[in-house]
Amino acid sequence: MDDNENLTNPVSKLPLAMDLERFREKSTNRAKENKKFLSTLKKKNPRKLDEEFHQVHKDVFKEIDCLTCANCCKTTSPIFYQVDIERISKALRLKPGDFIEQYLHVDEDKDYVLKTSPCPFLDGDNYCKVYESRPKACREYPHTDRKKMVQIMDLTYKNTLVCPAVFEMVERIKKLIG
Ligand code: SF4
Ligand code: SF4
Repeated sequence: MDDNENLTNPVSKLPLAMDLERFREKSTNRAKENKKFLSTLKKKNPRKLDEEFHQVHKDVFKEIDCLTCANCCKTTSPIFYQVDIERISKALRLKPGDFIEQYLHVDEDKDYVLKTSPCPFLDGDNYCKVYESRPKACREYPHTDRKKMVQIMDLTYKNTLVCPAVFEMVERIKKLIG
């Protein structure tokens, strides 16, 4: 039995402990192919595409435990809308202005995002310290269960490079519709 087999879930064949180094290598190697494939999906029937994505989303998240990963929290920032800022500031007992000053900056799209990465609210065990108050964007990430998936194929491609679950979903959809 090799080391990899040791870490493999016998049912799903997905790793129990996420090997992010290996994920980065695999997703980078497939980047060109995935970009092209996801771009072809823009022409698909939107309802059919939603059904396919929502099914693989359900299947893959039954097999992947985000607590073994947290790559989204480690490498990207959610957008913080005003309502998010107010909710999190309240939870942290900070004034919204102080929260912004301490944690956020405005990006090139004029959105509030984190100043630093990994996210300062990610703890050592991959738990979110502001879980109950986390931004809407964190709640909805990686957006593969939303309606009108056809509109977010470019974002989904970007997420194949961040999220092992999205990478796996795209691999399964490729097999489904070849
Ligand atoms: S959403 Fe994706 S990137 Fe984030 S923790 Fe879960 S599997 Fe990892
Ligand atoms: S607020 Fe929580 S869920 Fe959102 S990026 Fe930070 S640690 Fe992750």
